[in-house]
Amino acid sequence: MFKVLFVTSEAHPLIKTGGLGDVSGSLPATLQSLGCDVRLLLPAYRTVLDRLTSVSPVAQLNLPQLVAPARLLEGRFPGTGVTTWLVDYPPAYDRSGGPYLDPLGQPWGDNAGRFALLARAAAAIALGQAGVSWQPDIVHANDWQTGLTPVFMKDTYPRPATVFTIHNLAYQGLFDQAELGHLGLPWSLWTPDSLEFYGRLSFIKGGLVYSDMLSTVSPTYAREIQTPDLGFGLDGLLRHRADRLVGILNGIDDKEWDPQHDSWIVRNYDAAHISAKRDNKRALQHEHGLDPDSQAPLVGMVSRLVRQKGVDLAISAVSYLLHARAQIVFLGNGERSYEDALRRLAARHPGRVAARIGYDEAAAHRIESAADMFLMPSRFEPCGLNQLYSLRYGTVPIVRRVGGLADTVIDASEPNLRAGVATGIVFDGDDANALIAALGRAMSLYRNPSRWRSLVHCGMRQDFSWRASAQHYIDLYRSARILHDHTIGKNQNPGASP
Ligand code: ADP
Repeated sequence: MFKVLFVTSEAHPLIKTGGLGDVSGSLPATLQSLGCDVRLLLPAYRTVLDRLTSVSPVAQLNLPQLVAPARLLEGRFPGTGVTTWLVDYPPAYDRSGGPYLDPLGQPWGDNAGRFALLARAAAAIALGQAGVSWQPDIVHANDWQTGLTPVFMKDTYPRPATVFTIHNLAYQGLFDQAELGHLGLPWSLWTPDSLEFYGRLSFIKGGLVYSDMLSTVSPTYAREIQTPDLGFGLDGLLRHRADRLVGILNGIDDKEWDPQHDSWIVRNYDAAHISAKRDNKRALQHEHGLDPDSQAPLVGMVSRLVRQKGVDLAISAVSYLLHARAQIVFLGNGERSYEDALRRLAARHPGRVAARIGYDEAAAHRIESAADMFLMPSRFEPCGLNQLYSLRYGTVPIVRRVGGLADTVIDASEPNLRAGVATGIVFDGDDANALIAALGRAMSLYRNPSRWRSLVHCGMRQDFSWRASAQHYIDLYRSARILHDHTIGKNQNPGASP
């Protein structure tokens, strides 16, 4: 089975800003349970060092562009025991604030150097230049922060095969041209078919151009990013590499997100005891100052507050929800204008609208356990995790038909309801009216208890555990190996027939 170096800039519960953190926290352990030998590599941010007790240095990394050597620290990933390597270089990672943004919410000014360092460390380990007695067969890099990894490996043979996963194409790691020189990258890479992207240096292009195989986190998103609408300027490149690109749905950590054993919620339950959700609803209403009204449909939304997530659409739909005698609770942080708008709505409609601005893992669990419906009107959604948590928690997701949302939620159309396969409300269209129409459908189904119950139960029966998806990643690694060996064979023997 494969030896895999899994390179990431976040992994829950050590550090997380979104879905990438969830995936990096669960996929490596599942791959390991299927027989892979996985090492996780991430930066030694201050928060990670605080949370990962008992780490020890295993190597000194003498990497270009650094004024002093970096260290490679080893620890065990909490809860799973996966061997975790941290790139320890205090000038880059030992600071307060987020992994990408400073305490004022601005990207750290030295992000290019910080994440080039992560990629260089990954390449050094992969190529056997790090002084550790372990070398992977596969280097699996994720998102722009790790995009230079295959770039630093591309001219060395033999080398491991490389896989790059796109968790969100909207974030590309674009920097000034001057960074190319600062990072010690050759000018030969400054071309549109390499790292240049309309006059800027693109980290994500490193992953997209130079990896043996590419993946993204749902089959529909894999198709969408090859179109001008959702390709963020990279659709041409992705069409060019379409034969190397696959979509693999994310799984969920079904231990962490399990209504039967979730220690953050007031009352545990399963599909046979769904009425226990009422207690969670009452507690959530109390927690957020909502009226103690058991009949009011309670709608939840937990999200980064950015345009992608359709927060503006949700805000526009609030007056309809009030008219429908529903309650709504928002949890999220992000753009200041959305944060302020939600605070204002909550202040204007006490008892009916609640807004908690911030990042709060426990509150996210409580909302999933208590709400009747969950809102995800995303403009695009590579996979989305909250709709999967919602299905598991018997909270009916209301989603736009995009990306992973389209792949995981089955609309409560009349035929689907009759066939007993519907799991949520899926809508088309990208304006508030489309969302309001979808909410209208949800409200009338909610008022029909037997139909609602079958929707809830069907959702709870879905299986989105990591096992099946991890198997697809192993197939992907196999393809990467074959294609890599084939390419090397061709390069070494150009006259040979394919
Ligand atoms: P994205 O990665 O685009 O943010 P996903 O749905 O893939 O979206 O994953 C989001 C993850 O982050 C989920 O686990 C969700 O519960 C969590 N999350 C987002 N915002 C918050 C918040 N304010 N508080 C707690 N958890 C949050």
